[in-house]
Amino acid sequence: MVPTNPQPTLEERPSPSADALIRRLGRRYLLVLAVVAGLMLVDQAIIQPLLVRMDSYAPVINLAGRQRMLSQKLAKAALAAEGAPDAERRDASRQELKGALAEWIAANDALRQGSEQLNVPRIVSADLAREWAELDHDLQPIAAAAQEIIDGDAVGAQSAATILAHESAFLERMERIVDLFELEAAQEVSRLRVYSLTIAIAVASLLIILGWLVVRPATRAIRRQVDDLELRVAQRTAELAEMVASLQHEVAERKLAESHGRQLAAQLAHADRVASMGHLAIGLAHELNQPLGAIANYASAGDVILSQAGPARDDRRLQQYLQQINEAALRAGQIVRRIRKFVSRTDADASDAVDVDLGALVREVLELCQFEIRRAAVVDVLKLDSRPALVEVDPIQIQQVLVNLIQNALQSLQSCPADSRRLVIELEVDDDWAEVSVTDNGPGFDVADLDAPFAAFHTTKVEGLGVGLSICRTIVDAHGGQIRIHPAATGAQLSFKLPLAKSPQLLPLNEPSPVFQSDAVCR
Ligand code: ADP
Repeated sequence: MVPTNPQPTLEERPSPSADALIRRLGRRYLLVLAVVAGLMLVDQAIIQPLLVRMDSYAPVINLAGRQRMLSQKLAKAALAAEGAPDAERRDASRQELKGALAEWIAANDALRQGSEQLNVPRIVSADLAREWAELDHDLQPIAAAAQEIIDGDAVGAQSAATILAHESAFLERMERIVDLFELEAAQEVSRLRVYSLTIAIAVASLLIILGWLVVRPATRAIRRQVDDLELRVAQRTAELAEMVASLQHEVAERKLAESHGRQLAAQLAHADRVASMGHLAIGLAHELNQPLGAIANYASAGDVILSQAGPARDDRRLQQYLQQINEAALRAGQIVRRIRKFVSRTDADASDAVDVDLGALVREVLELCQFEIRRAAVVDVLKLDSRPALVEVDPIQIQQVLVNLIQNALQSLQSCPADSRRLVIELEVDDDWAEVSVTDNGPGFDVADLDAPFAAFHTTKVEGLGVGLSICRTIVDAHGGQIRIHPAATGAQLSFKLPLAKSPQLLPLNEPSPVFQSDAVCR
């Protein structure tokens, strides 16, 4: 039998070391994944916003440029105010100076402290702090002088001169401050770029580590598992091939044994038929005597007629005698043919089934057993169904069944008074089956176990073999039929039924040849 267990065997489950490896690789994978995710988070949350912020250096540098432009405007307005020919123009220049000063101071504050309003960030560095401090040396005097001009406290051209005196130093310092802003911006950008690059390198390294620590061992483990699996599949395939070979061997042996069994059954059935024929032999010899005697008598009578010469010879009678001899020889030939056919060997492996009329077959068996029936002083009754009973059977085997049943009935009737022995053979047909029953009024069966007589070697007779009914059952079963003993209060009734042929093609059973042929006598 081929095993069909779907459960994985122990060796098919992952080993504990493989389990540990899978867990370890899983942990490594999660760890690397977490670090990569953290780095990407840092990049997105810190580095990228800082890089975006670098855009805000542009307004700072713009504002610093504007600061220088305002310084010049401041100087110009101061000069204009101081050199104004009349009070009205002086006032206008003062107003202009005032506006320029306010803007100049606001720009200065924004550059130092940062201003949300002007979108200027606060940029701090040591160099810048130093420069801002240095700038104050020029910024403060310029602012004070400008304020003096605005307030009208200025004496002569002193204030404007102060502004002009500090302006070039102031502009130079502002130049350096702008340079510092640009430097600071460039440094910041390169710093952020380094961070970003570091993160990218870290992520790439981690991915390489992931490959080294997780993917590589996992690939190796998978390859190992695949190799194992292939090995197991190869082993299983070899085992299966072995099993298939042994199954084929077993099937062949079983077929051989079945064939032997069938041969033995056929031989046993043949032996049973020969044994039955032994019982029938006396009757058949007697039956054969009749046509042979008739032939001898008619031949002698013919001889007498032939010995008469002349017109007194009765040629018509001679012809009649010859006719009688012909018929008697045919009858004898028929008897011999029937005997030969009955005891002939049938090939167990070849199908000898043909469509036959079961009624004709029953009649022929009755004829075969006629002498024995008469010798046993049994009154036989044959009841045949009016419907046709065409069955596809091996006629010799079915005859054997019937001969067996009749002989058993005749033997059991021996214990009855000679004047009351009765044998009824009946054929009934329905839509699907034809059933033959053999009933006698002998002692009957033990109704407690009606199956026992069919067992091989079961016999109640001193000289019985106990194989007759067993062979009958084998034959009837092989024809797809059923044989059974009917429970009866008195006597015995056995019957067997056979399926009717589906598409019958009736062959003549044992019809005598209408024309005498010499080989018909002994064929
Ligand atoms: P055998 O005739 O050699 O004993 P069978 O297999 O033909 O073997 O019969 C088995 C037994 O069945 C017989 O010994 C007999 O006891 C019983 N049996 C068969 N036919 C009848 C019958 N018609 N009436 C009573 N008993 C029978």
